[in-house]
Amino acid sequence: SSIANRFVLISLFPYTIMLNLILFGPPGSGKGTQAERLEEAYNLVHISTGVLFRSEMDEGTELGIKANEYMSRGELVPDEVTIGMLKNKMLSHADAEGFIFDGFPRTAPQAEALDQLLKEMGQQIDALIMLDVPEDEIVKRIVLRGKDSNRPDDSDPEIVRKRFQVYQNKTAPIYDYYNEKGIAFKINGTGSIDDIFQNLCDTIDSLHV
Ligand code: ADP
Repeated sequence: SSIANRFVLISLFPYTIMLNLILFGPPGSGKGTQAERLEEAYNLVHISTGVLFRSEMDEGTELGIKANEYMSRGELVPDEVTIGMLKNKMLSHADAEGFIFDGFPRTAPQAEALDQLLKEMGQQIDALIMLDVPEDEIVKRIVLRGKDSNRPDDSDPEIVRKRFQVYQNKTAPIYDYYNEKGIAFKINGTGSIDDIFQNLCDTIDSLHV
C-alpha cells in the first residue's frame, strides 16, 4: 500500500518527491563525514541530533543544559526532548528537498515518531543505510577523534564503552525495524572516505524513489 500511496503522490504532486535517508551505525562509524557529502551531492538537509545538542550546550540553553546531563554520561537524552528538538528542526526546513538523519532515530519510540511526523508531511523514509565498521576499528577512531575534538564523551574510555552498550541495546534494533519494511541497507564503512561515499551513492541511486 505504501507503493500505491507513493504512486498517487507522484502523479498528483510531481514536485513533492523527496528523498529521506537515515544514516545509521555505531558511534564513530563516519556518519557525520558522509552525511556532509551526501547533503551537498543530493541537495538534502542534514540533521544531526548530536550536533544540535552540542550547539544548544554551547549556547547554554535550557535544552542544552538538560541534554548535557545525559551526554556527559554516555546515555541517551530522553526521547521527548530529542523528538521535540528534531521536530522543530524539520519544521524550520519546510522547503527541504529531503533530509539526512544522522544520529536519529536511536530508539524505537524515536523511529515511530519520525515515521508519524513524515507521514503528516506526506513523506516517508526511503532508506536506512548502515555503515558497517568492526568494533576494534571504532574504538581506535573515537580515541583519535577525542584527541583533537573537544568532545569530553570521546576522551573517556569508560564513557565510550557506555555509548557502545547503549548502541547495542537500544539503537541496533532500529535496523530490524526498517529491514522489516524492506528499506534497510548495509555497506562497508571501512576503507577510504571516497570509496565509502561511492558505495553510499550507488545504494541511493539504486532506490526506486
Ligand atoms: P556518536 O554517534 O559519535 O555517539 P553523536 O554526536 O551522534 O555522536 O551523539 C552524542 C551524544 O548525544 C549521544 O551519546 C547521546 O547522549 C546524545 N544523542 C544524540 N542523538 C541522540 C538521540 N537521537 N537520542 C538520544 N540522545 C542522543
